[in-house]
Amino acid sequence: MATVTIWNEFRHEREDEDVAAVYPDGMHETIAAGLAEHTDGSATDHEIHTATLDEPEHGLTTDVLERTDVLLWWGHEAHDEVDDGIVDRVQQRVLEGMGLIVLHSGHYSKPFKRLLGTSCSLQYREDGGTERLWVVDPGHPIADGLEESIELPQTEMYGEPFDVPEPDRLVFVSWFEGGEVFRSGCCYRRGSGRIFYFRPGHETYPIYEHDAVRRVLRNAVEWATPTDGSPRTFGERD
Ligand code: ZN
Repeated sequence: MATVTIWNEFRHEREDEDVAAVYPDGMHETIAAGLAEHTDGSATDHEIHTATLDEPEHGLTTDVLERTDVLLWWGHEAHDEVDDGIVDRVQQRVLEGMGLIVLHSGHYSKPFKRLLGTSCSLQYREDGGTERLWVVDPGHPIADGLEESIELPQTEMYGEPFDVPEPDRLVFVSWFEGGEVFRSGCCYRRGSGRIFYFRPGHETYPIYEHDAVRRVLRNAVEWATPTDGSPRTFGERD
C-alpha cells in the first residue's frame, strides 16, 4: 500500500473545450481512477490524493510531501509558474526516498530537469498518429502483466534525441508511424528515490483510460514506492 499524490497542472482542461471533452474532471481524476482499480475492477489498496498548480503551495505543502510515497507529475503550459521553493521540496523528498513518476510533457517540468540535470529536450509532432511502445525489459516490474507491446491508436509523437542522462533501466521504446523512435519508459535513481519517466499522455487523447497504460502506472507506483532501506548517515565518524 502506498500513499500516492497525483499532481496536475490542470489548465488545459479548464481552458480548452477539446481537452475538457476528454478529461472533464481533469486528468488527475482519470489517473486516480486508474490507480484505484485493478483491470478486473477490484480495488487497489493505495491511498490516493490529487494536487493542482493553482492550489496554495500548488497543493504540495511540506505535510503533503512528507506523507507522499509516490508523486505523479503532469505539466505542460505552465512549468514556469511552479515555485522554485516547491521544486526544492520535491527534490529533497525524492533524495529522501519518495518515488516520482513524470508523465508525458512533464519531461520539461522543473522537478524533472532539476533531478536529471540536462535540458530534457526532445522532438515532437502533434499529428494524431499511431504509437507502439515495445517492452524492451520484459523482466522489469513495471512491465509486469503487459503484452509485448502497447498500441496507442492516436497520440502526439515524441522523437529522439531525448536529452536525458542514460537511464538505469529502459523499459519501453516507442515506434511512431512517422518512423521516429523514442525512449518512452526510463528508470532513474536519485539519492534514495526512484524516478520513472513515462511518455504517453497527450491531453487531447484519452491515453489515461487505456487499460495497459493504467497497468503501467500501477506497476510504476509499486516499483517507485520507497522501501525501508538503511540509514543515510553522512559526515565525520567518531
Ligand atoms: Zn503533449
